[in-house]
Amino acid sequence: TEQRIEENREGTIIRLQGGFYDVMTPEGEVRSRARGNFRKRGISPVVGDEVVLHIESETGYILEVKERDNFLVRPPVANIDQALLVVSAAEPDFSAHLLDRFLVLIEAKEIQPVILLTKMDLLDEVKGPAVREAIAAYRKIGYTVIETSSETLTGVEQVRPLLAGKTSVLAGQSGVGKSSLLNALEPSLDLETSAISKSLGRGRHTTRHVTLMPLAEGLIADTPGFSNLDFPYDMEIEDVRWSFPEFVAVQDDCKYRGCLHLNEPGCAVKEAVEAQEIMSSRYENYGMFIDEIKNRARRY
Ligand code: GDP
Ligand code: ZN
Repeated sequence: TEQRIEENREGTIIRLQGGFYDVMTPEGEVRSRARGNFRKRGISPVVGDEVVLHIESETGYILEVKERDNFLVRPPVANIDQALLVVSAAEPDFSAHLLDRFLVLIEAKEIQPVILLTKMDLLDEVKGPAVREAIAAYRKIGYTVIETSSETLTGVEQVRPLLAGKTSVLAGQSGVGKSSLLNALEPSLDLETSAISKSLGRGRHTTRHVTLMPLAEGLIADTPGFSNLDFPYDMEIEDVRWSFPEFVAVQDDCKYRGCLHLNEPGCAVKEAVEAQEIMSSRYENYGMFIDEIKNRARRY
């Protein structure tokens, strides 16, 4: 008779399929089940959960789900280390407003953003200077900005080490080059690009479960997050206030504690904007976001 191999092992749920959880462990993938008692306790494991498995004859049984660092609802992924925020330099044109909006959404979830600027090959003398100036300004704030082109493969190799050992989720509008960039990193993924329905994006897979794909020694969600750019109902003015790191860096010098940097006298943020130490576009977007949340609060 076959020898029963029993042991406990730790891993990460990378896929939900037909009632099973596929768990990536250092020794390979293990098809696993959640024990009944587990479900009764109201815990529903999701992709990205760190779990302890009991393994009996190659089948895993989830004994424990570790406490989550963070959790994204759409797509449902736990323990995200970073969001790769993909924005294009052109086609569609670089938008500081969209970038700032994504940054706030990501920072409010306490997820580390990394900015990947795509389609750098499409920049010409007309559009180039403003985009390059913005790149320098976002780097000065402290954001990591990688300039890439999936066409010329410029910068693509700089993305690889950022992925190692981390769980990443992509964010960015459709058409900015997310699939193209992943294909450039790993041609065997062979993701569809620019098609009407594709495996990355809002197309046909909205009802399917999200999967974490191994990529460059890390894991990456195959469904982009943050596709809804409206601020969620639970987002507060304070979330916006703490999502602009260069404002936070000077706000101790504001005359008023809790200064919102709008019309308060002696505001260090406004002074920094006037001295051109803070980008005026960031300040304008900040004001718009605060207004948006105030107006929304009134509506409910
Ligand atoms: P996604 O919707 O964000 O996944 O974007 P895709 O990867 O599907 O790309 C959208 C379109 O932009 C496709 O036609 C791509 O060929 C094109 N594209 C993507 N990356 C680049 C790039 O770096 N340079 C140029 N010139 N075109 C690109
Ligand atoms: Zn202030």
